[in-house]
Amino acid sequence: MKIQVSLIPEEGSQVEYTIDGDGYREVLQNGGGIDFRIHPARVAAEIHKILETVTLDVSVETALDLDCGRCLESFTLPVQSGFRHTLVPARDGDDQKADLADEDISFGYYQDDLIDLDALVYEQILLQVPMKPLCEEACRGLCAQCGVNLNAAPCECRPGAVDIRLEALKKFTVKKQP
Ligand SMILES: [Zn+2]
Ligand SMILES: [Zn+2]
Repeated sequence: MKIQVSLIPEEGSQVEYTIDGDGYREVLQNGGGIDFRIHPARVAAEIHKILETVTLDVSVETALDLDCGRCLESFTLPVQSGFRHTLVPARDGDDQKADLADEDISFGYYQDDLIDLDALVYEQILLQVPMKPLCEEACRGLCAQCGVNLNAAPCECRPGAVDIRLEALKKFTVKKQP
């Protein structure tokens, strides 16, 4: 959704909509090399404007399908995030990408009277992608010797003797079909 700044009423406005997960999967492909799929996102935003400064209070509700870094099983991570974003019109010479380099994305610029709300939502969701996804904190992972998923069943292996080939397998991540 794009917000036209000149049309924001003095008393502010509210929007609620859903972003289809498929629509922006590509935008989210650079999640630090982590492969994931995104569910449709519920977005609610309160929009206020004082002179040319626009403040957005945005809440996002979605979920990510991720592969566990230990057991390689895919799992769904619920994502709920609220953020405030303040935007001012871009002037010549402003480094409009500067704010994106930072984890703090609370300040930014808009251009041509338009704010791309979806893009702000994408950024916010990207920040929620864990560096090392785990299906649960206590995930037991795969047996380094026989490769069995230890969450499902214990195996007969004795700890100690690690098969080097299975060590390599652990680093292997399963690519999902789009
Ligand atoms: Zn796991
Ligand atoms: Zn085993």
